[in-house]
Formats: sequence, C-alpha cells, structure tokens
Amino acid sequence: MTTDSLSNAVRVVIVGAGFAGFEAAEQITRKAKKSNTNVAVTLVSADDFMLYTPLLPEVAGGLLDPRFVAVPLNQTLPGVDVIAGRVESVDLDGKQVQYVGRGGETAVVPWDRLVLTPGSVTRLFDIPGLREHALGLKSTTEALYLRDQLLRELELASQTEDSALAEQHRTVVIVGASYAGTELVSQMRALADEVAEKRHFDPSSVRFVLLDVAKQVMPEVGDKLSHKVLDVLRERGIDVRLETSLESVSADHVVLTDGTRVPTRTVVWAAGVTANPLIATLGLPTEKGRLKVGTDLAVDGHPDVFAAGDAAAVPDLTEPGSVTPPTAQHAIRQGKALARNVLASVGTGTAKPYKHSNLGLVVDLGPGFAVANPVGVHLSGLPAKAVTRGYHLFSLPRGVNRWAVAMGYVTDVFADRSLVSFGTVTGDEAKFYAQGR
Ligand SMILES: Cc1cc2nc3c(=O)[nH]c(=O)nc-3n(C[C@H](O)[C@H](O)[C@H](O)COP(=O)(O)OP(=O)(O)OC[C@H]3O[C@@H](n4cnc5c(N)ncnc54)[C@H](O)[C@@H]3O)c2cc1C
Repeated sequence: MTTDSLSNAVRVVIVGAGFAGFEAAEQITRKAKKSNTNVAVTLVSADDFMLYTPLLPEVAGGLLDPRFVAVPLNQTLPGVDVIAGRVESVDLDGKQVQYVGRGGETAVVPWDRLVLTPGSVTRLFDIPGLREHALGLKSTTEALYLRDQLLRELELASQTEDSALAEQHRTVVIVGASYAGTELVSQMRALADEVAEKRHFDPSSVRFVLLDVAKQVMPEVGDKLSHKVLDVLRERGIDVRLETSLESVSADHVVLTDGTRVPTRTVVWAAGVTANPLIATLGLPTEKGRLKVGTDLAVDGHPDVFAAGDAAAVPDLTEPGSVTPPTAQHAIRQGKALARNVLASVGTGTAKPYKHSNLGLVVDLGPGFAVANPVGVHLSGLPAKAVTRGYHLFSLPRGVNRWAVAMGYVTDVFADRSLVSFGTVTGDEAKFYAQGR
C-alpha cells in the first residue's frame, strides 16, 4: 500500500485475537484485497498468538507442548498490523482504543470501524476460598501450571511418610463436568497413571474427584453419549459426583455441598465463563455480562461498532429468544460474519444476519476414548477418537501447528508422556485475577 492509500484507508481495529478476532482479521484482509476495498486492519491482542483452547487439556496432561496450540499472529496474518497489547478502554465518541503495550507503555489507536472480540474469563461464584486457592483453565499459563502442579504434588506425596499428607498431595478436585473439565480430568488422570507406572506406586492412590451441579456429565452430547462418558470416567477410577459443588476451598482441603471434606491441594474451577471485563467498562447494554449486538453483530445505536464470540450476546436465530452459546464453533463463524458485515458497512458487499446451526461437539477423553456427535451422528470409542483428532488437525489455522500436534498424537501412540515440570509459571501468574489482564 502507498502512503496515500494508507492514509485514505478505512481503519478497522479488532480487539482480541481468539477464534472470532483471528477469523475476522484474516477474512477482512483477504476479502478487501479481492474486492479492492481500501481498509487497514489493526489487531490489538493481549497475546501475540491465537490460542486453540480445545487442546489446552492435552497441554495440562503433558501430551502437547504449549507452542503447538498457539498460532503466531505475525506469521499467519499477512497484511494485518498486529499490536501485542491489552486494551484498557474504548472511547466510543473519540473513536479510539487505549492499550497498554508489552513494555507497560500506554498508547491509542484510532478506528473507523471497531470489532470487539476479547473473549471471556472464568466465571467465579462467591464460594469462600475459591478465588484464592482454585485454578482455572483458560490459558497456556494455567495449563502449564496445572501440569507442573500435578507432577510436583505426586513427587511430594512420594517423599512423605505421613499418609494423611500424601493423600492431600494425591487428590485433585475438578469442578465442571462440561467439555473443559471432563477433558481435563481425563488428561490429568492419564498423566498421573504414567507417573504411577514409572514410580511404581498404585495408580488408584491418586484420586480425582469431578463435581458438577448438573444431573449428568456433558449434557451437550445427549443422554446416550453422556452415560457412556460417565461409565468411562468411573471405570478409570474418577470419583464423579453430580448435583454437587464446592461449599468452601482452603489451601489443604475442600468442603463439598453435601458436607464431605476432601483433603487436596489441587482444585480446578472449570464451571463456565463470563464476558471479558473490558465489556463492562463500555457503558453499553449487556445481557448476562455479554455485549448486546443485533443479528448483524453491530451494537445498537453504534453502527460502526461490532462484537462477537464469548464477549457478545448474539441472538441465536436457530433458537429464537436465546443467544448463541460461548463456543469456538460459533466464534469462528461469527468471525466470518463480522468480516462480511464490516466490509458491507464500508460499501463492499451486503450485510447478512448471523445464523448457524450447531454442528455437534468432539470431546477427547484421553487414552483410547472420545465421544463426538458430528452433525447428529453419535460416535464413541476409537471412531470418535479419529474424528476428534482429525477435526482438531483440520481446524488449527496453521500448517506448522497442525504438523506439531499430529506428531504429538503419533508420539502418544508408541511413546510415554514426558514427565517434565519446568516450574516457570508462578502460582500468582496462574491465579484467576491474571485472566483478562
Ligand atoms: C479448556 C477449554 C476447552 C474448550 N473446548 C472447546 C471445544 O471443544 N469446542 C468449542 O466449540 N469450544 C471450546 N471451548 C470454548 C472456546 O474456547 C471459546 O468459546 C472461544 O475461544 C471463544 O472465542 P473468542 O474469539 O470469543 O474468544 P477467545 O478465543 O477467548 O479470544 C479472546 C482474545 O482476546 C484477547 N484479549 C482478552 N482481553 C483483551 C484485551 N483487554 N485487550 C486485547 N486483547 C484481549 C485474548 O488474548 C484472546 O486473544 C473451550 C474453552 C476452553 C477454556
């Protein structure tokens, strides 16, 4: 682009490079080039990579390296100006966003069109001790910390003569039996089994407790597959307790809502998400914390501001009266719709309402098992495993990452998981308050 065309370009600023923001940036740039539309796309994101979150449990379980699931923005989005910075405020009248860069400096970026896709953070409840003592699973930092934590705790258990203390070290409590919590417990179980085999102790001495207030695990996959998942989890010795949550959390134990006291030093809270805190600072209408948008993904009264993904309450045209659930599946498709509608707002193409029917879910449950319901076909066991892994390889938006993940899968077939803890992430960095920062 010449300096002249750059200065005349419509400035599109995207906040957040997750599934929605990444897809929007890629598609706006590509479609603008094809249609000779003069836009300059700037992507301001807290991380300089797009995180493929569905594979975080595999990172926590020591199956995949964190770099495999992080897609570098500067190497995948040619033509997009990527700024690694955390947006702190949005000036809707002055049309600029303010961000804090990697060096702690504050700067502003002006926009003609603004796309808000900062995603979500873990939704916490007012449970005593939860914020202080539990961990989440939304970032590579948390996934790495969890892996280290499990290996460290198992090591400490092996070193003590005190059986009560060893029990504390060898117990993991995970709250949330939807896909994130269920995949996580399966991967951590596999890692613990590996340690037990190599260190010659009984794997059943490592106790995993999975809690959920719902009546079943993974209701998203339907009754039949949900029962299968429950059977497999219990066969693996996972203590699944439904209609149960946490009453309180301490450094060395939790109390469940049924009054049971469980000694543990590892508690994971994976029970839902809420919109990124940036949304609450906008002074715009929200629904359950998510920014209200129309079916065209534009904010009512602000036709030059768009939002999508976990941060936005997008009307679900397939289920009138509800909003789309916070899933990657919707975020990716909303990213595509954002591109079309943002370009339509500058005169290229026609805007369309967002509509997408659920294509099902794939859930990897560790060694030899998965469940999947692609387009309504219910699969479990090895066929589901093949579909699940194939789906992730297909969906990862960069060849090198696909290759690395595929190698991780192949290695998993004939080699043991590496029992390595780096200890590079501190407990403070893995706390909930570090999310959305
Ligand atoms: C462990 C786990 C497993 C999951 N598995 C599945 C699955 O199997 N299938 C499925 O459909 N969904 C799954 N999900 C849900 C899915 O990850 C989310 O729905 C999806 O990531 C939402 O996309 P998004 O673009 O809205 O936000 P995100 O992908 O969360 O991206 C948000 C982006 O905004 C950036 N950001 C945040 N705050 C700021 C700020 N202030 N300034 C600048 N940038 C900022 C972040 O760095 C990030 O790049 C899973 C989630 C988790 C945590």
